Amino acid sequence: MSVADILDERRAFSFEVFPPKTDAGMEKLIGEGGVLEHLYELNPDYISCTYGAGGGNVGKNLEVLDAIKASGKTTPVTHFTCIGNTKEGIKEQLNTYLEHGVDHMLALRGDLPFGWTGTNGDLHYATELVAFVRKEFGDKFTIAVAGSPEGHIACRSLDADISFLRQKQDEGADYIMTQLCWDMEQFERWLDKIRNAGIWLPVDVGIMPILDQAATINMALSRNGCVMPRELCEIISKNWIFPNPFDKEPFDANVEGKKASFKEAGIEYTIKQIDQYRAMGIDGIHLYALNKYEDVTRIVKESGLKDYV
Ligand code: FAD
Repeated sequence: MSVADILDERRAFSFEVFPPKTDAGMEKLIGEGGVLEHLYELNPDYISCTYGAGGGNVGKNLEVLDAIKASGKTTPVTHFTCIGNTKEGIKEQLNTYLEHGVDHMLALRGDLPFGWTGTNGDLHYATELVAFVRKEFGDKFTIAVAGSPEGHIACRSLDADISFLRQKQDEGADYIMTQLCWDMEQFERWLDKIRNAGIWLPVDVGIMPILDQAATINMALSRNGCVMPRELCEIISKNWIFPNPFDKEPFDANVEGKKASFKEAGIEYTIKQIDQYRAMGIDGIHLYALNKYEDVTRIVKESGLKDYV
């Protein structure tokens, strides 16, 4: 059953992992007793694997997808970007995925590498990639597309961004996977707006678990420019671990204690977000697992996600 069919029928839940750079990291992810095996125990509807814009890590991406496929436990979904690629190159890579039994993809433009002003490839936007895949491959792929509840960081307006999302639907996308969004008001506003714009595709909400203070701040401020709700700011400030240049007193070095209490509060925040999304009747929950399983397992179990998505 395709993920699109599952989302039509009932609520779904899934994970996202990334291809590790080192052999040791790969072993920890796909090896015996590794992270993937622990994630399978939670019965996800699919596991997606990221793809380096430009295809730099395509070998490792395929190795992870092969492992998921070979397990027979869940559906592998690849992320795929059109950055720096020709139409021929894209066709070749997508044929390779099909040969490996991977027929689900998240069709993306990809993040532009520093200093680039365009994709330097034959296709310029995800809308074109979706159209191209449908033209060349018909219905062989189930196609997810990215949606940004706060607007893509480079979009000229939220309305323009939503009109391009509508175009992805018109070109034949099957469902939407969203960018992280920690502010429920932003998310609700976006959901209303996309439904008013005639976008009826199922929405699979991307959730970034809040586990690490530096990563959370980096994600919000330098990567996505997303809204930090008051509650999340309070969690950060109560557990602040960075030296303050204006402090006269020596820096409080209880860094480990604060990291632990930050994580505890972050996990609670993440579980509350899952509750809110579910109460909103959302179609799917997609947890960015960050190649970890302990905290993710706790979130899935304590939120009840495993038993009643
Ligand atoms: P697009 O939809 O093409 O949008 C890009 C920008 O162009 C937006 O500002 C949009 O408003 C504008 N735009 C769109 N269409 C048009 C048009 N026709 N004319 C003019 N302007 C237009 N990146 C990776 O490199 N690898 C990954 O594995 C990866 N995984 C991701 C997973 C998820 C769930 C999400 C949400 C994002 C992921 N990304 C990944 C990041 C993504 O590649 C970036 O956000 C990228 O900058 C935009 O990709 P997109 O598909 O949203 O682009």
